[in-house]
Amino acid sequence: MRVAIIGAGPSGFFVAGEILKRCPGCEVHLLEKRVAPYGLVRYGVAPDHLLTRRAIKLFDQIADHARFQYYGNVEVNRDVTLETLRQSYHAVILCAGAEVPNRPDVPGARLRGAVDALDLARWANGEAEAFDAAWLDGVRDVVIIGNGNVALDAARLFLRGAATWVATDIAPYAMEALAHHRVASVTIAGRRSAAEASFTEAEWNEVVGLPGWSVAADETGPFGPLPEKPGSDRHLVFRSRLHTACLLGGERVVGVRFSHADTGATVELPAHLVVFATGHRAPRWEGLPYDAARGVIRNQRGAVTGAPGVYVCGWIKRGAKGLIGLNRKDAIETVATMLEDREVLAARQPEPADWIEACRARGVRIVTWADWKRLDATETARGASVGRPRLTLSRNEALALL
Ligand SMILES: Cc1cc2nc3c(=O)[nH]c(=O)nc-3n(C[C@H](O)[C@H](O)[C@H](O)COP(=O)(O)OP(=O)(O)OC[C@H]3O[C@@H](n4cnc5c(N)ncnc54)[C@H](O)[C@@H]3O)c2cc1C
Repeated sequence: MRVAIIGAGPSGFFVAGEILKRCPGCEVHLLEKRVAPYGLVRYGVAPDHLLTRRAIKLFDQIADHARFQYYGNVEVNRDVTLETLRQSYHAVILCAGAEVPNRPDVPGARLRGAVDALDLARWANGEAEAFDAAWLDGVRDVVIIGNGNVALDAARLFLRGAATWVATDIAPYAMEALAHHRVASVTIAGRRSAAEASFTEAEWNEVVGLPGWSVAADETGPFGPLPEKPGSDRHLVFRSRLHTACLLGGERVVGVRFSHADTGATVELPAHLVVFATGHRAPRWEGLPYDAARGVIRNQRGAVTGAPGVYVCGWIKRGAKGLIGLNRKDAIETVATMLEDREVLAARQPEPADWIEACRARGVRIVTWADWKRLDATETARGASVGRPRLTLSRNEALALL
């Protein structure tokens, strides 16, 4: 059997590994729209959480398998259609994630100075075009809306001492921009009570313990009282039960108006940068059923409803929740579901995968695994030359090098 997997994030690799293990003779083709693999592990996970990127070692072992092929820089539904893939493979598994931010649809939400936390993370991780660093000029007050670890990741960008970024793989332009920021107040505002916030303890402790910042909260959170810290003129504040009503400003954002969940009282906070860490949903995929309430492709244990031979795994299947490791459990379920259909799938007679040559003929520079390994070596060598773990190549730099 030949299986195409769309998306080289954790769920794509875990699915590939599971198929290679459980399905002897099965060939796996992994298609990825970015040049580089690893999905959010590369461009979402915070650059100062290098250990979290350890999962990459495991993904690399899977990619070394003889029955595995990587097709990077191939965007499905731009370079090749999902329909073509369905005709070319016995099965197609979508592991394309949930990249669409859930920015609340409130007045002012698109003002200059309002950004999604994922775009900030992409910027910090080497996708320069994701955020305009000029928006940081003169910013003193930052409000981050959201009560999960992604909000904490965004806060650390402003709270960490400039000198500490050297040991991380943050992009050099981001390191430079963050060395000069003037942010003196960061407020993390959530809709729920502090006790219901979805921070994890280690991440929360890390942020509240960062030196040089006082820390305060309007309610005691799930991890007990805040640490005693010396006074400072830079303040981190946790606010709870605040519903975003609108963003204030003209040409650019100057504040956020909230309404208090219990009292209905209006609360206004100054903000020259507003970061939305309010979750994500999967995009719609033409021809596949969409569950708008959950922001996922409609499926039963990974089999897409009404689309024989098409499966889903990861955030596109169960919503934008959960850590990297959870996608492994999810992959086990999806592959088991696919293998229940094995007889029907194996009886299909897909056309050969001509899409690869068709893409090349149209000028798509398909990135192979060997190409990626060359790029990876270049990134680490460039990093080593300036005492950094890695200097990430932009898409254009990578393609130019190849
Ligand atoms: C900002 C942020 C920080 C996070 N930090 C952590 C952390 O510190 N620790 C942790 O355990 N978890 C973290 N997570 C969660 C973790 O990243 C997810 O659990 C995991 O990445 C989900 O895997 P996935 O494969 O479903 O999706 P993704 O990782 O999003 O992978 C999807 C892949 O599909 C590709 N793709 C999309 N559309 C197409 C297309 N049309 N054609 C081809 N390819 C396509 C994308 O480019 C991407 O590479 C974080 C998430 C976010 C958003």
